[in-house]
Amino acid sequence: MTGATLPLIGQRSLMTELKAFQAALTEAEKAFKRSEVPIGAVIVKDGKIIARAFNSTEKKKSFLAHAELIAIQKACKKLGTKYLQNCHLYISLEPCQMCRTAAQLSRISSVHYLLKSKKFGKSGIAYHPLKIKKSRSVLSEQSRHLLSSFFESRRKPKTIEG
Ligand SMILES: [Zn+2]
Repeated sequence: MTGATLPLIGQRSLMTELKAFQAALTEAEKAFKRSEVPIGAVIVKDGKIIARAFNSTEKKKSFLAHAELIAIQKACKKLGTKYLQNCHLYISLEPCQMCRTAAQLSRISSVHYLLKSKKFGKSGIAYHPLKIKKSRSVLSEQSRHLLSSFFESRRKPKTIEG
């Protein structure tokens, strides 16, 4: 029932939340049937579900196939924008750091989940230790130049009228 209008009693009514979580669980069941870790996500805008997705990391052989990321991509495509203001993400499980950051970058208005994730949630214990450091390479300046040139070209001087 993608696109069905949900009853609205205020922007994020309990009814909207219940329907959204039910839809997220339906997505999680789809993942379960495909032997994927059962996690589902939907995105709601104006009380209407505009995107729904389930975890597909096994099938796609990619951790980028988390339900939330797929739902965010679908919503962006549907709205024709990379930003999801006034949209709300509903997930059957607490998002991992990657999906949390994706939600932040997409400027999604709020994120709601049904269960805490001990392994990959905010206080997750299952993250692989990551070595990350800024290089002292001579190519750093080239990267800086490329970025600053790009943003300078975007900031064209405004003409003064009058
Ligand atoms: Zn995730």
